[in-house]
Amino acid sequence: MIRGGEVIDRLGRRRVDLRIDDGRVVEVAPSIGPASGDAVVDARGSIVVPGLVDLQVHLREPGVGHVDSIETCVAAAAQGGVTALVAMPNTTPCIDTPELVHHVHERARAVGRCDVMSSAAMTVGRAGERASDIEALHAAGVRLFTDDGSAVMSSAVVREVMERVSVLRGAYVGQHAEDESLVVGGHLNDGEVAARLGIKGRPAVAEEIVVARDLMLAMLTGARYHVLHASCAGTLELVAAARARRVPVTIEVTPQHLSFTEQALASGDALYKMNPPLRTAADRQALRAGVADGSIDAIATDHAPHPDDRKAASLVDAAPGMTGLETSLAVAITELVVPGLAALETVIAAMCWRPARIAGLDRWGHGGPIAVGAPANLAVVDPAESWQVDPAGLATVSSNNPHRGRWLQGRVTHTFLRGRCTWSSRMP
Ligand SMILES: [Zn+2]
Repeated sequence: MIRGGEVIDRLGRRRVDLRIDDGRVVEVAPSIGPASGDAVVDARGSIVVPGLVDLQVHLREPGVGHVDSIETCVAAAAQGGVTALVAMPNTTPCIDTPELVHHVHERARAVGRCDVMSSAAMTVGRAGERASDIEALHAAGVRLFTDDGSAVMSSAVVREVMERVSVLRGAYVGQHAEDESLVVGGHLNDGEVAARLGIKGRPAVAEEIVVARDLMLAMLTGARYHVLHASCAGTLELVAAARARRVPVTIEVTPQHLSFTEQALASGDALYKMNPPLRTAADRQALRAGVADGSIDAIATDHAPHPDDRKAASLVDAAPGMTGLETSLAVAITELVVPGLAALETVIAAMCWRPARIAGLDRWGHGGPIAVGAPANLAVVDPAESWQVDPAGLATVSSNNPHRGRWLQGRVTHTFLRGRCTWSSRMP
């Protein structure tokens, strides 16, 4: 039983108790008395939401040279209130065959704790030259086709992939939108800090060019297009213009792009290195406003663990990427809700039912609504609890969480996957 909490889902906000049995919500009422033997979660002062859905996670399997794995990443997901995630394909080898998709799904099922839907590379070997077997991958359960880690530069290849994706149920194309020719050799935003450090930058226009092209191809083909980790204001303008022309496009932003700017890299700390890079204060402002007004569909972590030695290197040599599964909701509450920029319900929508619908994970029982008969995929969150981020207390082995040491507000206290508790901050 979950008693005393306030439910927030796409039906609204209401004070109800929940009874869970056999993996499902079996009773929802303003007050339910516990029967003897019931395990009761005291949720007074907390909110109860559908389990979070993360559209972009790097599980590092199959892979070499990583200390993190499906096991540690899904534990991190559970700690962050996440009950379903989309795994990215830029592994070693990359996920471009049904066999590798099945491998990831089976590994994740064996571990439990979080439902995993694998994406697949849209080109063979992520080489950007030849479309992968889109139809077979779709039959294996893939919905997101992306070469994430890099963009597919050939417009002809993207067009072919989009044509094939457009006729497949639930399928969509996502792009790591950075024009390779403009970002090669770059390590942070092409701006003030890069100039001061004398390091080559990665310009925002590299993102805008790829997004603009892809939106044109999406309009041409009718394929559903998803902008991964949008980093700049210009991308939001392109998406708004495409929506006005009824192009089926969705867009996500990471917690780190909502939190930091290129100034975080001023001291050369590679902890804040990622692609696309952290940008200007004006870009961050536009991204925050996009979440607040709902024009950004989803907050997705781009959780990317790296062993400490790969992040301790110089800005030029270090690996790009940050972790974030355990902290994403708290970061969103701290950066958006606490200062009054966005409503809590808006943030929950961007982390629950809107991403669930994009990836088709609503069909797996994620994203709510919380109602009798629904699978009990839930998170209990104390929106007022402050906690200090200590990598030693996070499930991810790698310590490249950019919020480490920071105090955040909003704590996931319990996560339930089909009624089974996958995380509790209250356990000793
Ligand atoms: Zn990416």
